[in-house]
Amino acid sequence: MKHIDIIFKNDHGISFFWKKNEQSTVDLAQVVFRDIGFYLTLDELKEFSNLVSVSLQHAVCQNCPHGKDCRSFLLKTPAAKIDLAISLNELNGLQELLDKTIIKMDTIIYIQGSLN
Ligand SMILES: [Zn+2]
Repeated sequence: MKHIDIIFKNDHGISFFWKKNEQSTVDLAQVVFRDIGFYLTLDELKEFSNLVSVSLQHAVCQNCPHGKDCRSFLLKTPAAKIDLAISLNELNGLQELLDKTIIKMDTIIYIQGSLN
């Protein structure tokens, strides 16, 4: 994994920065979740995290035998034409992934700002 800087990783996905000439490109984060790669700015990460919060409030499958693994949630993504069917477990994992990535990016941008 020489060409990336891992930001955060959990059972549901991973986020990282791409390295160019040994330097990380920190204005965009690559978030890979369920075989889907998102390439997102800090604002888009925050938007995506909000969409996850909204989706968490709209469970549609009651008394389902699949419980937290039932993909009965519909999640909007920063890609306007793509919604994902997603389970409660995956939503929680994605939210953690996005929020940790946001904290890390926020911190880096803050540090860079104070150095300039
Ligand atoms: Zn269900």
